[in-house]
Amino acid sequence: MDNEHYRHWAHRAVDFTADYLDGLRERPVRPDVAPGETAALLPASPPDEAEPMAEIFADFERIVPGGLTNWQHPRFLAYFPANASRASMIAEHLATGIAVQCMLWETSPAATEMEARMVDWMRQAVGLPEGFSGTIQDTASSSTLCAVLTMRERALGWRGNTQGLSGQGRLRIYASPQNHSSIRKACWIAGIGDENLVSVETDDNFAMKPEALRAAIAADRAAGHLPAGVIAVVGGTGIGASDPVAEVLEIARAEGLYSHIDAAWAGIAMICPELRALWQGAEMADSIVLNPHKWLGAQAECSVQLLRDPADQVRTLGLRPDYLQTLGQSEIVNFSEWSPALGRRFRALKLWFVLRAYGLDGLRAMIRNHIGWAEAACERLRSHPKLEIVTEPRLSLFTFAHVDGEDATRALIEAINRDGTTYLTQTMHEGRFVIRFVVGQFDAEEADIEAAVAAIERLAG
Ligand SMILES: *Cc1c(COP(=O)(O)O)cnc(C)c1O
Repeated sequence: MDNEHYRHWAHRAVDFTADYLDGLRERPVRPDVAPGETAALLPASPPDEAEPMAEIFADFERIVPGGLTNWQHPRFLAYFPANASRASMIAEHLATGIAVQCMLWETSPAATEMEARMVDWMRQAVGLPEGFSGTIQDTASSSTLCAVLTMRERALGWRGNTQGLSGQGRLRIYASPQNHSSIRKACWIAGIGDENLVSVETDDNFAMKPEALRAAIAADRAAGHLPAGVIAVVGGTGIGASDPVAEVLEIARAEGLYSHIDAAWAGIAMICPELRALWQGAEMADSIVLNPHKWLGAQAECSVQLLRDPADQVRTLGLRPDYLQTLGQSEIVNFSEWSPALGRRFRALKLWFVLRAYGLDGLRAMIRNHIGWAEAACERLRSHPKLEIVTEPRLSLFTFAHVDGEDATRALIEAINRDGTTYLTQTMHEGRFVIRFVVGQFDAEEADIEAAVAAIERLAG
């Protein structure tokens, strides 16, 4: 394909996406497809002969859109948002076209320097003091894995990487039961194991009890185990619960334990100063993750990991074989030394575009709207005779259930998602099947949320 063709088809791709986004409100949020339907439309084997782009593009339009769960749909209320704002899409087109590999400063000077600056913009945007630096990881799962690996290596005196884990002490990581599955997975990958992810008791508000954390650490020390780190959650995935960050981090500090805050979703809301009480004390953390690829609209992959002192993480992950040495440069940052992967995309560009195109005031207004609309939706559903609110709004997330019990709640969410007006997901809360309602889609307007609520009211009977 020459550049003339590339230009033509790339323009077609932009036209397609603009039309797709324009038409989203007319589509169901979740497709009405059965497993295997898309696979049945794809040839079983790759072509030997080159095919014309016109055919490829036509097949794309025929096969793909009907099989999509439309994450950018303004009435998408499931999971947490995975927003892609228009400004982010434009930056991603550019990053895709220039396609630099950002493992070292030397392989991508502009990208590396912009990454450092964008992390610092985010630090300021969420109100953290100077002194934090950081990097842009692909996902919060990776950010948390980096923190857990650093906890492990610090606790082992950096012997895990050299000697392996066999014969080392029994490492212990502490988190509340509201923690995200990525923390569990990080403990698997780090060789720490499920049984050593200590679930610390929570209070009536589903927040970690500081005295229970202190007691768990003391019991482990008495048993000869190796406490390694504490993870506080701010805006947990199930119902949006948050730990008392200041008290938890005080304990971590007093115990000499590395600390990490998982604020993948709610951390973005900290751009609103009036909401920062939620993570009061965050400046004491060693590591913090927040995902611009959720609420902020800088699309995947864009997870900011802030580090009070990157030295421990770089010591854990910074491998520098001969072929990665860059001669004569000691002052530079090579971000591949801050993460498991070597190769990295130019992730900072979309953050730069988003922060400038919407401005912090624009993004704050969006988040404040979402929180207000979620509160209004909650009040409407509360007044429905067949529905009850199970957990109150935390930022823009609340949960509800059908008053007739679990079977009725299951039937209701199935009916809602088949209807297509909106799309919701469920969680188990204290052994109870509940439906989550999360406002956060970048293009959502008040009328979209009201239409979703009306559909739920209608289907609840
Ligand atoms: C979304 C989320 C994650 C996982 O984020 P990824 O970037 O998809 O890995 C982790 N923790 C919390 C609290 C989340 O909301």
